Amino acid sequence: MSGNLPRLIKAAKDAAKNAYAPYSGYHVGAALQLDSGQIVTGANFENASFGMTLCAETVAIAKANSDGQLNQITAIAIAGGPAKFDMSPDIGVDPITPCGRCRQILKEVADLNALDIPVHCVHAKGHVTYLLSELLPHAFGPANLE
Ligand SMILES: [Zn+2]
Repeated sequence: MSGNLPRLIKAAKDAAKNAYAPYSGYHVGAALQLDSGQIVTGANFENASFGMTLCAETVAIAKANSDGQLNQITAIAIAGGPAKFDMSPDIGVDPITPCGRCRQILKEVADLNALDIPVHCVHAKGHVTYLLSELLPHAFGPANLE
């Protein structure tokens, strides 16, 4: 799977170009690695009613879910930054990390797959990989409802 990491990161960067972010100008792309080798991407989708904005990670996960692939997600890469005129994001110096809501959504996927999902957070000079449990320690998850 690690051999696919450059491809996964490129997919996240490419997806960021499709962001609909007219309000923040901040384009984010996410790319999910599936067991099958397939990559599922998402881009942020803003809304004039700001609270309805969807993050790139959420879009990608919802896309995988609607395709019946929720149980195949093994990793995620996230890339983004302020958009330039050609709509490609200017990747920041600091790694981009998922927001709190997306960490919780990733927790659901992680528990479904019994996997501590690697989260590859892209920055200008490469990426940093965190495990989801590092980004969301002591998380509430499906097991809490049993
Ligand atoms: Zn988010």
